[in-house]
Amino acid sequence: MPKGYCVRCKKSVELKNIEYFIMKNGRYQILGVCPNCGGKVSVLTSKDKIPSGIKIKKKTGGASRRSRVKSRKSTHRKPSKSRK
Ligand SMILES: [Zn+2]
Repeated sequence: MPKGYCVRCKKSVELKNIEYFIMKNGRYQILGVCPNCGGKVSVLTSKDKIPSGIKIKKKTGGASRRSRVKSRKSTHRKPSKSRK
């Protein structure tokens, strides 16, 4: 199990619910949950520390996990059927 530093517990903990991400800049990140306080812990890592065959998610720029952000930029056109 990967370890990460929990800022709430102020110590390194073994992470639960681990997910691996690759970021836009090509770096790898582990996101997990602290077993003590349940807080989120993120650890920067490198590809060779990720076990092979594991699922790596792509991480886009936005930090929020909510994707319900309405685009305020394009008010001049009505986004009718422009879903991807
Ligand atoms: Zn903690």
